[in-house]
Amino acid sequence: MSKRILVIGAGFAGMWSALAAARLLDQVGRTDVEIALVAPAPELHVRPRLYEQNPAGMKAPLQEIFKTVGVRFVQGVVERIDVEGRQVHVQGVGAGSSDQILGYDRLVLAAGSRLFRPQIPGLDTHAFNVDQIADAAKLEAHIAALAQRPASAARNTVVVAGGGFTGIETAAEMPARLREVFGEGADVRVIVVERNSDIGPDLGAGPRPVITQALGELGVTWKLGSGVAAVDAQGVTLESGERIDAATVIWTAGARASALTAQIPAERDSFGRLHVDSHLRVKGVDTVYATGDVAYAAVDDAGNFAMMSCQHAMNLGRSAGHNVAADLLGQAQIPYSQPKYVTCLDLGPWGAVYTEGWDRQVKLTGAEAKALKTKINTEWIYPPSANRAEALASADPLRIVVA
Ligand SMILES: Cc1cc2nc3c(=O)[nH]c(=O)nc-3n(C[C@H](O)[C@H](O)[C@H](O)COP(=O)(O)OP(=O)(O)OC[C@H]3O[C@@H](n4cnc5c(N)ncnc54)[C@H](O)[C@@H]3O)c2cc1C
Repeated sequence: MSKRILVIGAGFAGMWSALAAARLLDQVGRTDVEIALVAPAPELHVRPRLYEQNPAGMKAPLQEIFKTVGVRFVQGVVERIDVEGRQVHVQGVGAGSSDQILGYDRLVLAAGSRLFRPQIPGLDTHAFNVDQIADAAKLEAHIAALAQRPASAARNTVVVAGGGFTGIETAAEMPARLREVFGEGADVRVIVVERNSDIGPDLGAGPRPVITQALGELGVTWKLGSGVAAVDAQGVTLESGERIDAATVIWTAGARASALTAQIPAERDSFGRLHVDSHLRVKGVDTVYATGDVAYAAVDDAGNFAMMSCQHAMNLGRSAGHNVAADLLGQAQIPYSQPKYVTCLDLGPWGAVYTEGWDRQVKLTGAEAKALKTKINTEWIYPPSANRAEALASADPLRIVVA
């Protein structure tokens, strides 16, 4: 009787899991194992680019690749995981679809993350974000429509709530985006609000001087030490009581792992990520692997853990896919390891900053770093071509992308 590996999610981790599992089946010549992948659409959403223009175009088709490597795509949303019964309940998506129950022998949870939305008055109703394609497209349409409003300081002001990775990248884009709508000479204001006492609190001291120089030259300002307490249609009120009138508020403060992680009876970290072993199997749950943004995984023996990042999700995916198939086929598993860590932060028209190491030593800035960021964002993170041999070869779990 044939067995089934079921992958939930078609993001960076899910896509690479499916391809890596297919690679191992191909290598050992096994045709009695089905790889099925469930996601709302057969496409990779390129979330790291959603602060850029044209977010609706930030996706890549996966149907042909899946077909060529023998992955069965199931369109739907997983609502419930029954670990005991080894099955998931899938809600159909799209016209003519129906709900179904899918059994599995091994499960790979790769359902990614969602923007963290704390209980702040007005946040859900009035704040924009760049978390998913539809969210970013809504923000783009809003900015374009601002031109119809009468000119005012508030109309020309964007508040970016959160001065982390996404907040900085988004803020750096905004002055030019606003000037495209209001005209080159327009007086625009972009203000980053960060609760911590430093901008980019998680990015450390290394790249901070470059970040502040770039934002300063782009005309972006920041307010530190007080978070957003409330959002309304006219702007934000800070915890300090300060008021900023703004027609546009963009919430960027962090991510949380998919709520599906709560259905796996295992330990999770404060972001909701499942603790996994070095083969990315969920600790204490033999039949379930977790990867990408839903996995709390050690990247080395020095105490570093994967970030919720595309950089880690792609390698985590290849490792989880290989190991889940190896587990089922009685082949050797390969421990996940990714000791090299880099950061490439987009700083809009100013350029970018590229760092290496967990202490983020600056290696490139300005146009040079921007050229690297452009390569990452337009080439490296995209799926392989729908050529079977190439797609399978690129799913090698030992492949090193950043050397
Ligand atoms: C604006 C922004 C900028 C970023 N910039 C960077 C960057 O510069 N560098 C970097 O490394 N990372 C960056 N990231 C983070 C990066 O995008 C994520 O870490 C990465 O997408 C995680 O990959 P993933 O496959 O784990 O999850 P995701 O990409 O979130 O994919 C999850 C998949 O699971 C599917 N799914 C979810 N729930 C279900 C369900 N119930 N049933 C079926 N399918 C489901 C989704 O539809 C999707 O296909 C950025 C993120 C954002 C939002």
